[in-house]
Amino acid sequence: MKKTEELRKKLVYTRTNFWKEAPGKEQKAALDISEEYKKFLNECKTERETIDYYIKKLEKEGFNDINTGKKTKKVFRVARSKNAALAIIGKKPISEGVNLIVSHIDAPRVDLKQNPLYEDSNSSLGMLRTHYYGGIKKYQWMSTPLAMHGTIIKKDGKAINICLGEDEKDPVFVMPDLLPHLARKVQYTKKIGEAVDAGKMNIVFNSIPYPDDKKAKDAVKLNALVLLNEKYGITESDFLSAEIEIVPAGKSRDAGLDRSMILGYGQDDRICAFTSAQAIFDSIQNLEKTAIVYLADKEEVGSDGNTGAKSIFIIDFIADLLKKNGEPSDSSTLRKTLINSQVLSADVNAAINPNFPSVHEKANAVHLGFGVSVTKFTGSGGKGGSNDANAEFNAKIINIFNANKVFWQIGALGKVDEGGGGTIAKFMAEHGAEVIDCGPGVLGMHSLYELTSKADVYSAYKAYKTFFEKA
Ligand code: MN
Ligand code: MN
Repeated sequence: MKKTEELRKKLVYTRTNFWKEAPGKEQKAALDISEEYKKFLNECKTERETIDYYIKKLEKEGFNDINTGKKTKKVFRVARSKNAALAIIGKKPISEGVNLIVSHIDAPRVDLKQNPLYEDSNSSLGMLRTHYYGGIKKYQWMSTPLAMHGTIIKKDGKAINICLGEDEKDPVFVMPDLLPHLARKVQYTKKIGEAVDAGKMNIVFNSIPYPDDKKAKDAVKLNALVLLNEKYGITESDFLSAEIEIVPAGKSRDAGLDRSMILGYGQDDRICAFTSAQAIFDSIQNLEKTAIVYLADKEEVGSDGNTGAKSIFIIDFIADLLKKNGEPSDSSTLRKTLINSQVLSADVNAAINPNFPSVHEKANAVHLGFGVSVTKFTGSGGKGGSNDANAEFNAKIINIFNANKVFWQIGALGKVDEGGGGTIAKFMAEHGAEVIDCGPGVLGMHSLYELTSKADVYSAYKAYKTFFEKA
């Protein structure tokens, strides 16, 4: 009996439960980092807010804007207020390759349309039209408190930042769902994905008509504009160019009786943004290789646009790092640098959902609380659209994690042909670097309230720090 146990231990791959196996010190560290992480989630509900958070943080951590020309090993660049890269230049030449961790700081949400405001003639309510962003289940957004975050650029070029609905004293907003009593024909006969169509995701904005002219047509809409003008000094035409994002109102919370988990909006993928940034801040002095954290925008809509991972931004940043370090930065050197580089595509994975176990394949799926996932491939339909990391690089990462006692597990996104999804991995791989997906599991991904484990927050942090220091 004892021998078979020994054999099992030696020969069989088993996931390890962080809460069972991790030393007390690490369990405490998991709870501690999660406190900071929750604060970060509360402050950073949009990509712009995440960048603002890091601009403040980077100064404290001793990073300088790469454009300032200061003699420093710690540099960063922010582009278009929506994406950023930060780096610590290592001892080895950069052209020998960098260690880069890329995550994304956009999250599925609902945007206001460019011309959003109207008065609904049936109900006499002031309303806002919306256009959803990324992969959402539209019905989840109905009848839940919503907040408004965004940026309005006024005619004089001045930016006004809006954040309404997060303070307990703020009003919140809602897209009212249909009562079950009257949903029989309009909703219950439909497929779930069609039960709420995009055109019904309008937000109730206000209800009091403009007091001086209550009888006028659109007096409720006029009153909304008057209030907006008083508060922000804007007119209706200022909306036409604005970026206003609707997100679930409220803070992230501890979840579970034992407080072992976190429930909060936008953890895909800000959990990786936070843990990778924290990892670079805390990594050892005198790193061998140059470490880069790249916080990208637009992943949820395909990484397009000049703030997405397909843009030239990160390549240009690496070229400037070469220059900064006194190395050649011609196109050939840059290409070789990228080919020599190692990338963790830090994005979340779908943990086994106890309510829907049938979509996962248990042996290959991520388990919440069992550490960060190392995901060889994503994609769908026979690995379509996937990076599919090379065995050599995959093994290297796993070996480093094992040697440094990182809690990690393998993880594939769902059963074969159940669905699928992609990450930034393949866009980084296009430049020739070795790339693998590595991030925590999430329950209820892309819902308004995503559930993660504090064990996995910590394990991701430790994995990323180990990658910078040892890979
Ligand atoms: Mn993601
Ligand atoms: Mn996503």
